[in-house]
Amino acid sequence: MHSLKTDPESEPQMPDKNESLREIRINPIVPSESVLVATARNMRPRKQEDPAPRDTRKHVEQCPFCKGNEDETPPTINAWPDDENWEIRIVENLYPILGEDQQSDGLTFGLQQAIEGYGRHEVVIDHGEHGIALQDMTPVHIQQMFITYQERMQILYDSDKRIHYVLAFKNFGPAAGASIAHTHSQIIAMPVIPENVYNEVQNSREYYNKHHRCVFCSLIDEALTYEATIYDRDSGQVQRKINVGQYVIERSEHFIAIKPFASRYEWEIHIMPLDHQADFLEASTDHLADFAGLLKRTMQRLDTVIGGAQYNYFIHAIPHGEDYEDSHSSYHWHLEICPRTSIPNGFELGSGLFVNTVSPEVAAEKLRAVKLDEASGTA
Ligand SMILES: [Zn+2]
Ligand SMILES: [Zn+2]
Ligand SMILES: [Zn+2]
Repeated sequence: MHSLKTDPESEPQMPDKNESLREIRINPIVPSESVLVATARNMRPRKQEDPAPRDTRKHVEQCPFCKGNEDETPPTINAWPDDENWEIRIVENLYPILGEDQQSDGLTFGLQQAIEGYGRHEVVIDHGEHGIALQDMTPVHIQQMFITYQERMQILYDSDKRIHYVLAFKNFGPAAGASIAHTHSQIIAMPVIPENVYNEVQNSREYYNKHHRCVFCSLIDEALTYEATIYDRDSGQVQRKINVGQYVIERSEHFIAIKPFASRYEWEIHIMPLDHQADFLEASTDHLADFAGLLKRTMQRLDTVIGGAQYNYFIHAIPHGEDYEDSHSSYHWHLEICPRTSIPNGFELGSGLFVNTVSPEVAAEKLRAVKLDEASGTA
């Protein structure tokens, strides 16, 4: 008969996590999505496709987004602090993905159904300085960027009943698909709900109906308090300890940055408000100040660990409209940051199963270990 031995002094034998892992992890929010974490010995990280270096110049004479070239973009929709001395400027996208109503060309027939590509596509020129990285902007400036997103999103939601979702996102660096090097974000008002937002909303609503809790709040609680000791059934020896906060990268008064357990990308990070909130548009100015500080520190960590981070980030928030009014208790807005260190391959595109070659636990450890004072000096 073996009894469970609880000896706090016994050192658990930790396997080298980054050398031995090969498992399919289920996304806790959307269980139909999974990721293959494969970091087995001798498995080289996926080949990096030599990401094009990003443009770090301060001012570029021919850049349409640089100061002095305002005539080369569509007219200013809005600017902060003002049109003359702008630090953030919003313009219509010259090549919009979605735009004004267009005459349908009549291709819909039978199973070939389409809805009109009505929408709005705006560009937020994030900063007057051409190649400045987010972690080098002031927290006040970052706060203002997110206030700007909020203002534009609200206006776009109010502008037309056909708008069901407004997506704010940023592509930073050529590896992340940014076609213009000058730092900028985009806001697209869409007549459809993006599939990944839809899946998150539906699944978190199901979770809520079952457990009467928001799954994102549960996830935060687990990240903050979860601690487990796994004992060997026969010997009673401690086999493994799961550390408190092993997925927490940063936390502030109102926000938390987490390395998702089932990260699709090696250095993916999610930031969420600690208190339940479904709509990003409801985040207060004070909370966004706190958010900006946390985002800056998180990006400093990321940039220090992977060096010259090129990434996409996007805001996921509750869609507007009657269909979503009952999902305010179950959905929780967040920012997803997806650094691009490799390009999806045929297996990933064909299977829908992302392959992650760095264990999320190890990635989180590395990100946490960065000494921010040192990092703040890096450009
Ligand atoms: Zn520029
Ligand atoms: Zn919540
Ligand atoms: Zn999301």
